[in-house]
Amino acid sequence: MKLYNTLTRRKEDFVPLKPGIVGIYICGPTVYNHIHIGNARTFLSFDVIRRYFAWSGYAVTYVQNITDVDDKIINRASDENRTAAEVAAEYTEAFIAGMEALGIEAPSIRPKATEEIPAMIELISGLVEKGNAYEVDGDVYFAVRSYPDYGKLSGRDIDAMKSGARVEVDTRKRDPLDFALWKAAKPGEPSWTSPWGEGRPGWHIECSAMSARYLGNPFDIHAGGDDLAFPHHENEIAQSEACFDSAFANYWLHGGMLTIDHEKMSKSEGNFLLLKDVLEYVRPAALRLLMLQTHYRSPFDYSAERLDEATAALERIESAVRNMRWAVENYEGGEGVAANGAAADGAALASAETLRTQIATTREQFKTFMDDDFNAAGAVAGIYELVTAGNTCIAAGLRTAEQAAAVGEAVDTITELLSVLGVNLDTAGASEEALPAELVELAAQLTSYEGAGVSEALAALLEARQNARATKDWATADAVRDGLAALGITVEDTPTGPRIVRG
Ligand code: AMP
Ligand code: ZN
Repeated sequence: MKLYNTLTRRKEDFVPLKPGIVGIYICGPTVYNHIHIGNARTFLSFDVIRRYFAWSGYAVTYVQNITDVDDKIINRASDENRTAAEVAAEYTEAFIAGMEALGIEAPSIRPKATEEIPAMIELISGLVEKGNAYEVDGDVYFAVRSYPDYGKLSGRDIDAMKSGARVEVDTRKRDPLDFALWKAAKPGEPSWTSPWGEGRPGWHIECSAMSARYLGNPFDIHAGGDDLAFPHHENEIAQSEACFDSAFANYWLHGGMLTIDHEKMSKSEGNFLLLKDVLEYVRPAALRLLMLQTHYRSPFDYSAERLDEATAALERIESAVRNMRWAVENYEGGEGVAANGAAADGAALASAETLRTQIATTREQFKTFMDDDFNAAGAVAGIYELVTAGNTCIAAGLRTAEQAAAVGEAVDTITELLSVLGVNLDTAGASEEALPAELVELAAQLTSYEGAGVSEALAALLEARQNARATKDWATADAVRDGLAALGITVEDTPTGPRIVRG
């Protein structure tokens, strides 16, 4: 498996610290608002990567923190006249609900910053002791100059940064680049007791403390959106490597930004769509399929048109899978023999063979693409090819047991590989939903059926329609069709016989 490592700026073979085990840390949300679909894209990209590791046989420990103490949470709480803890609890719950709705697997461990303060204090104390951090009036800063490799992740030169105009000047810091590890409490803010007085942790220290606690140092993979590479991830590296005298994360994976009209979607720009609002009108599987069309490291430009196309693509896959299942379930012929008892033709045998070849190709391509820095778009393209091949195989009706078996295998492959990408198909067929009881009455009116069974009534109606069509009794055939339509059942004629569609 190869993955692009931001730290080395190249694709590398993935070598886990312990064979068969992978530890992944991904920066979680700051819970002061509902997440937007940009945030969701990052979490979705790494959910797919995590699922792929698991499918490839790795035992995965996936850690994602919740930043539940922060200026933005405190500001919102004071605007709304409630406590920071209340704001954080509301949006933590909303975040988890959004992740579930999008089909993102829960992390193995989901630590909250406010529950990990002792580990952070310990880390900061270690840094102060080693001379990598200093206290000023209850605040503690990391001395960036004390860590010689500062800038290695984002490829920045410390001296060039210093002369940059964007670094704010704070006379209490020894160097403008130094950043806060601990902030002295202001009146009314949540605070914890520390060796430097009452206060709260800075944002960066959280991730260093939690990853150390749950994954150790070093660990395998650190993930997040590429907007976090500087300064957040750079600061995490500096703190952790300075404190633990060990490498931090071996591989850094950064996801590209979701843009809208080619502008980064962000809360501060005001050009955002909330995940919860989008999921009101879009199926999660369609949103996932759409996002997977772009490589996780590239920017992804969102548009309603692209979403519609993805929804249509998803429905095409679902309808193909339903048709394939239906064809297999209704195949009644024997080995090498058509349903009508005739010897199977060469074309039917060849079509089974072709489908089996495509199944093998799709599986192989799926692995090849995903092993190459998680190219889900390539993997999905291979699945579409299999859908087309499956459709071709059933187009003329199933005429051999070999075809039926190959089609069944194609369906299993399509659903399995899509589920590795977290795309779960909705292929519930008519047989899986309760049929309307009114069918009994309809059958009594239009056929000779006198029983009380709902599915028997439907079978009688379909048979009556077939007989009517065979005898060109169009009035009866239409009456059955219209009666079924009124109950939400459409009859479609397929080469293997009539098939009902609910909706
Ligand atoms: P935040 O709550 O702003 O810290 O963001 C949480 C996660 O969402 C981080 O991993 C960010 O990198 C990511 N993120 C923020 N904005 C976007 C965006 N427009 N596209 C993709 N990911 C984003
Ligand atoms: Zn982080």
